[in-house]
Amino acid sequence: MTNTAAIPSLDKAQAFTGRTHKLFIGGQWVEPMEEESFSTENPATGKKLAIVSKATAKDVDRAVAAARAAMNSSEWSEMKPSVRAKLMFRLADLLEANIDEFAALESLDNGKPVRDARYFDLPHAIETIRYNAGWATKLNGETIALSGPGTWHAYTLREPVGVVAQIVPWNAPIAMAAAKIAPALAAGCAIILKPAEETPLTALRLTHLIEEVGFPAGAFNLLTGFGDTAGAALTAHPDVDKVTFTGSTEVGRLILKAAAGNFKRVTLELGGKTPVIVMPDANVAQAIEGAARSIFTNTGQVCNAGSRLFVHQSHFDEVVEGVSKIAKAIKIGSGLDADTQMGPVISRTQRDRIRGYVSSGVQQGAMLYAGGEELDREGYFVSPTILTDTDAEMAVRREEIFGPVLCAMSFGEDELEQIATNANASEYGLGAVIWTNNLSAAHLLARKLKAGTVRVNGGGLDPALPFGGFKQSGWGRENGREGIEAYTETKAVAVAL
Ligand code: ADP
Repeated sequence: MTNTAAIPSLDKAQAFTGRTHKLFIGGQWVEPMEEESFSTENPATGKKLAIVSKATAKDVDRAVAAARAAMNSSEWSEMKPSVRAKLMFRLADLLEANIDEFAALESLDNGKPVRDARYFDLPHAIETIRYNAGWATKLNGETIALSGPGTWHAYTLREPVGVVAQIVPWNAPIAMAAAKIAPALAAGCAIILKPAEETPLTALRLTHLIEEVGFPAGAFNLLTGFGDTAGAALTAHPDVDKVTFTGSTEVGRLILKAAAGNFKRVTLELGGKTPVIVMPDANVAQAIEGAARSIFTNTGQVCNAGSRLFVHQSHFDEVVEGVSKIAKAIKIGSGLDADTQMGPVISRTQRDRIRGYVSSGVQQGAMLYAGGEELDREGYFVSPTILTDTDAEMAVRREEIFGPVLCAMSFGEDELEQIATNANASEYGLGAVIWTNNLSAAHLLARKLKAGTVRVNGGGLDPALPFGGFKQSGWGRENGREGIEAYTETKAVAVAL
């Protein structure tokens, strides 16, 4: 039995799931034009959770028109940056005031431990909104000295890119939604947000807060619905100026093609196969703990999960045994159970996919060091799994599994070039983690790794730190100055004096 007694605001979250959820277009909650609704399920039980409106191409047309109208309205386009910032700070405050309800809702919808939602996802979402609110008043162009004949006054303006479609995945719904909407609002864009069909609830609840804050009509619109209908229509729409997407590399490729029609600006955060490298001089206890956290957090459903562990041979046995001990001790269960450390994966499909990877690895000769067993309980659970004796050609080593499955490898030398080559042997390049106390090795390796973010001896996400991928992990960066500048167009103005 799940002990939910101690979960604050669970009653509020449950009441919210039972409400009628419409689409939010042009400042109004409206019914979808064609298809009625679809239901979502609780991944911890496999049972129906909520009934949500299903947007189709006609709703996309309406939402894009509403966003365009906001971009053309003086209320939004001429709003002072400090007023935009104030609205955003107010949104962050409201989210913080309702943090327990959001955490419970996120756990119901996505399955993640409510503690993780309450103490990681939500504080991160709130901080992301505040961080970007601060940028609203600091987005400036520059003056430029020209060298051609004549006397010139030349400068750049940073203008909002316009109507932005934002498509987010199910693994960290509220944190992803915040990472998308905050820089776009700060830059003065008009948004159409489409949450994942599996997890629309916190985006819906957030929309109520956005309504309460009082952003101008059309500045923010929410469409719940499916990727191949609402999502595809958004990415192909001729009046959308930019699309930002987080999700699979496969869908990223479709989006890129769809965006080509009108040369939409595109930011893509895609898959990863992050290497975690444990050097000979690492603090082994910390490396073990960090390596386990990196792959098992959020049941491994993290684009930046440390799924390939490279350990110097002098520590290999100790590290693999240490991570395995942690894996075996992890308490698996419903995210709403206060003791749960690892929740279910998002769906039956995802569970079966993960199991498929593990068994294909084993069939090809990998050794199952820990996990891999099927858990006999309702809902979609997978045990934390460690594979050794893999080779670089196996699908488990090459492909993003998006589950709690770790491939552990040893390396025999501490020659940096070779370590970097092994770590870089992936079509992805999102993140990399190094455990070492050798300052030179850390910095030299950081230069050699083909990854958008390199972390040394731990570290987490920060809204100030650019995030994004090399290679097939994506296009562009979110967070930091680059993240907000990606929502602007640079206009150069040259005045002959
Ligand atoms: P995952 O494989 O992790 O489920 P996806 O990349 O399929 O993630 O989905 C992430 C988001 O992309 C979801 O909001 C989904 O609805 C959306 N999506 C899926 N297919 C398409 C598509 N063809 N065009 C636009 N969005 C899509």
